[in-house]
Amino acid sequence: MQEKLLSNTQTSFDDIKESYAAICENIEKAKSAAGRTDDVRLMAVTKTVDPERINYAIGLGIDLLGENRVQEFMDKREQYSPAEVHFIGGLQTNKVKYIIDKVSMIHSVDNLRLAEEISKRAGQHGLVMDILAEINIGGEGTKGGITPESTGEFCAQVRELPHIRLRGLMTIPPPGCGEDTFEAMQRLFNDLRADKSVNTGAFDTLSMGMSGDYETAVKHGSTIVRIGSGLFGYRKYL
Ligand SMILES: *Cc1c(COP(=O)(O)O)cnc(C)c1O
Repeated sequence: MQEKLLSNTQTSFDDIKESYAAICENIEKAKSAAGRTDDVRLMAVTKTVDPERINYAIGLGIDLLGENRVQEFMDKREQYSPAEVHFIGGLQTNKVKYIIDKVSMIHSVDNLRLAEEISKRAGQHGLVMDILAEINIGGEGTKGGITPESTGEFCAQVRELPHIRLRGLMTIPPPGCGEDTFEAMQRLFNDLRADKSVNTGAFDTLSMGMSGDYETAVKHGSTIVRIGSGLFGYRKYL
């Protein structure tokens, strides 16, 4: 089925402004409840959102966007105000070449072939691409992502690639999962961060938390929360 851009057109600019303020406040509350003083970055996930609303959000102070469809991103990116963009969606190896010089981080790397292609293409552009290893923390059979058990091995393999810098982990916890899933992810991240064979100095990013669970994610060490519908309203697909 073809998904077409229809976008969250009922959401007013005022709605976006109110949601943004509430989300920032909730992140701060979750941080202080957890005794955290480090940074948590708010990413606006802009899939299906039209450029006017994206640019309004950037005007409010949002400086990081997340896109998860290559074609949609290519169609829209010329219309954005300047902002940093991370790629967060499932990425086919043959699409890497389209985004490699247009994003500053790829969150969804879950196989070595993809990592190798990213490294190769980054090299052609004289870049070192920041990536996150996507972890299937809930062990869901249908979902992409590396199993927690094979994460250490995967990180060690990726580390050998010349034009990639492994910055940390990303996950999409199963909807409605318990807090123990977030705890497990935090433990995995902290273990790898403490492992000198994986962390050669830049392993500092845990991308976890979406509109429905970002406060729990912040409680458990997330450094980037990825918020779509909570900011822009519900996505409509045609
Ligand atoms: C769509 C999406 C989000 C945002 O989801 P919301 O529940 O709308 O906040 C976050 N991460 C990824 C990978 C996504 O595809």
